[in-house]
Amino acid sequence: MQPAFFAKMKSTESVTKLKGIGPKTAEAFHRLRIDTVGELLAYLPKRYETYAAEIPVSAATEGRTATFLGTFAGVPSSVKTSRGSLLIGKFRDASGTITVRWYNRPYLRKMISVAKYVLLRGRVARDKRERYLLQPEMYTPEQYRVLMKTLRPVYGLTAGLTTNAIAKAVREALAVCEITEKIPAGILRETGLMRLKDAMEEAHFPKTEETTREAMRRLAFDEFFGFLLSVRNLREQTETVPNRCPVNCDGFSKALLASLPYDLTGAQKRAWSEIAADLRGTHPMQRLLQGDVGSGKTVIAELTLAATAEAGYQACLMVPTEVLAKQHFAELERRLGGLGLTVSLLTGSTPAAQKREILRELESGEISVLVGTHALFQQGVSFKNLGTVVVDEQHRFGVEQRRALSDKGTTPHMLLMSATPIPRTLAMMLYADLDISILDEMPANRLRIKTAVVDATYRPKAYKFLADHIAAGEQAYVICPLIEESDGLDAENVTDYAERLAEELPNARIAILHGRMSAKEKTAVMEAFAAGETDICVSTTVIEVGIDVANATVMMIEDAERFGLAQLHQLRGRVGRGAKQSYCILVQGNDTAEARERLSVLLTATDGYAIAEKDLSLRGPGDFFGIRQSGDELFKIADPIRDADVLGMAKRAVTSLTPAEYAKAVKLCLAESRESVVY
Ligand code: ADP
Ligand code: MG
Repeated sequence: MQPAFFAKMKSTESVTKLKGIGPKTAEAFHRLRIDTVGELLAYLPKRYETYAAEIPVSAATEGRTATFLGTFAGVPSSVKTSRGSLLIGKFRDASGTITVRWYNRPYLRKMISVAKYVLLRGRVARDKRERYLLQPEMYTPEQYRVLMKTLRPVYGLTAGLTTNAIAKAVREALAVCEITEKIPAGILRETGLMRLKDAMEEAHFPKTEETTREAMRRLAFDEFFGFLLSVRNLREQTETVPNRCPVNCDGFSKALLASLPYDLTGAQKRAWSEIAADLRGTHPMQRLLQGDVGSGKTVIAELTLAATAEAGYQACLMVPTEVLAKQHFAELERRLGGLGLTVSLLTGSTPAAQKREILRELESGEISVLVGTHALFQQGVSFKNLGTVVVDEQHRFGVEQRRALSDKGTTPHMLLMSATPIPRTLAMMLYADLDISILDEMPANRLRIKTAVVDATYRPKAYKFLADHIAAGEQAYVICPLIEESDGLDAENVTDYAERLAEELPNARIAILHGRMSAKEKTAVMEAFAAGETDICVSTTVIEVGIDVANATVMMIEDAERFGLAQLHQLRGRVGRGAKQSYCILVQGNDTAEARERLSVLLTATDGYAIAEKDLSLRGPGDFFGIRQSGDELFKIADPIRDADVLGMAKRAVTSLTPAEYAKAVKLCLAESRESVVY
């Protein structure tokens, strides 16, 4: 054994073990959910910026980040504002002049020598008075020429942590931490992939576009590899066991079907008959139900839960958010309660006493259907005879979480539902060990959601439009990118927007919703909205998943260009869920030709997969390498469409593992849950 002082640091050590990280910095890291060195290394930049060549000042385009080469017309002047200091200068080149504003950077004044050529890189913004360069970075020409060959990592930040501070901590971690290579050497050789340690280093400290791409491919490979491994592992655990909960769906589902206010679509009927066959089959069901937003997955889940419960087994439905859990619970209780089944709800905010009661009833078998969030697979939750697990929005859960739930029964039936827009061939590759049903048909009563892309000058008309629809008894969502005003980012925020909207529409009952509210508050707001007690819900993207309020017919999205197309498609899917004509108004905060082209994809495309593919082809290199913004998708780095070839590689690798390699890989890759994936 090596003496301790030779040993490299373990990735599970606390970040406070790193040089230069005191309690205060550790506290800030903790807010980013970084406690261990491994979590720090896994905290990859959310995107990379390129350093483009300078452009003339006269070509400055609002909303774009650009670099200019010129001189200051004089020493910038310092102004006191309510929120601190402001430095204002005039910057010029042969083509023109632009104002420069720096908030809370008083020290920069001394660093500026008039008439010396410098490069300023920053975002061009505009207010009522003028166009200006906001908070630009300043470089000498020599410095900038070097930077132009590199990519610049941009980390998600929190108060008390700068990009530099994160980079410094990561540098230290890379130097002292032991990074275990998880991929068998043979596979590394065959695929020519970068080593994990090099990939980590490159991801945090990119050298060139080329090498960063290589690093991203390696990290994407790991995600696919781990995922495919766990799917294979899960399958192997079930394909040999008999179906212990055989369910005959004939009689019961008829009663439920008869109670539905509509007929199932052809695709729904097909999916349901496939599930019904699984439920009475020889092995437990392992099925993925895929269907675009609004294709009607919920009712299939209901039939599955109901049939299971009717056959005398317990069934549970796991969903990613409390709001969604409540919504599903209310509907299930209404429909299944009427058929004599007991439905319960368990989430993180269920009061302790009530929780104890639910746990007791669950063990005794009094509850036949349980709906809930992550709380479902916590310790202490045990079922009497769990027959079926349905997971909604399954891409938001890790495989390990599903397994933890599945472990609560003796290999129950599993139905995973997903709206992830990937083509069938890729879905089959990812989920090869699952059976797949696809809902490729929308309910017939659907009208196409009328979509418009407009600029900010259209707002008064949009408000009139909102007012008219509210007067007609309908409801609307307005989405803003931010929660509250934040420095340096001029995008609409929910808090101020709701106030302004209230002035514009004095008769409308306006609610706000965002991620910083407690689960309880969010649920209350959503329930009131669903009950028609409020007219407009001004929200961040928290409403993105699953919410179903059929009476909502208008979706207005501010600063739409800030969102990915696939995300806009999900958001748009919150309306048009009933028989009424629905509308989606995409308001461009910054009206650039590029943004307009991207957004206009949504004018014609209605298919999630086509949209995702188009989005990808329109993304720039900085975004291309970027980590997913929302951070709660199935993969953090990998994109099954973009990285289809890497997925193929991972697939071949997992399939070709020798039994010994397989056992070792399972141990290395599946030991930790997805939340604490460490490198
Ligand atoms: P998703 O697949 O996005 O989860 P939902 O299950 O929430 O979609 O269904 C969207 C809406 O369509 C719901 O309001 C639901 O009641 C309705 N719906 C589902 N199936 C049908 C159908 N066959 N005919 C008409 N409406 C349907
Ligand atoms: Mg849904």
